[in-house]
Amino acid sequence: MIDIKNLSKWYGHFQVLSECSTSVAKGDVMVICGPSGSGKSTLIKTVNGLEPFQKGEIIVDGISVGAPGTNLPALRARIGMVFQNFELFPHLSVRENLTLGQVKVLGRSQDEANARGLKYLDRVGLLSQQDKFPNQLSGGQQQRVAIARALSMDPIAMLFDEPTSALDPEMINEVLDVMVGLAQEGMTMMVVTHEMGFARKVANRVVFMDKGHILEDCGKDEFFGAPRSERARDFLARII
Ligand code: ADP
Ligand code: MG
Repeated sequence: MIDIKNLSKWYGHFQVLSECSTSVAKGDVMVICGPSGSGKSTLIKTVNGLEPFQKGEIIVDGISVGAPGTNLPALRARIGMVFQNFELFPHLSVRENLTLGQVKVLGRSQDEANARGLKYLDRVGLLSQQDKFPNQLSGGQQQRVAIARALSMDPIAMLFDEPTSALDPEMINEVLDVMVGLAQEGMTMMVVTHEMGFARKVANRVVFMDKGHILEDCGKDEFFGAPRSERARDFLARII
């Protein structure tokens, strides 16, 4: 479903991604880990066209992301993205956050958007919060709303960029539980996270990045059992 081939990207003279290749099949849960600054966020942002790149190719569901003429807004509408800092619209209620994209981008009626949004809000356990504003919710609740908002768009895949790293420890599990549920239902996911418990539980692939290179791309058992690179072994020793 997502095919990344020899992807390289520079910020000015600084090469942030070097010849990265990997692919995600339908239903795969790929966990991407690695030291801060290794290019993880940049990699997943290139997948839905939030960051341009200079070399290589990314194909998402048959669409070439970097090709001239690709309709990036249409592509983005089909890929859910959840960020570290929730990024809800602060001036809109929870319900309005859930419905805006569905109405504006997908052209759904307000009623239909409400029904879908509330279905997913219920699913993340927050139906009773629909009239609140983001700043009236905890971080964990805001992140669950962000996930419900992404799901309301019927994405073909979900990208997560450190979705729990801005949360107080007691809120991490409520967000991870939602993500585990999605993974178990077969959602295709690319997840940048250092939550290795999550990786062990639901990932089927682990990518380890360092300095813009993909150093490991393997099954979870292989990654946790016997990472090939010394950098990955060091990394695991430090975070587990
Ligand atoms: P990670 O998510 O693994 O921490 P990032 O993808 O955010 O890494 O960043 C990789 C590298 O690219 C870092 O060295 C970072 O400073 C640099 N970088 C990220 N965004 C920009 C930008 N907009 N302009 C210049 N350099 C950037
Ligand atoms: Mg990052």
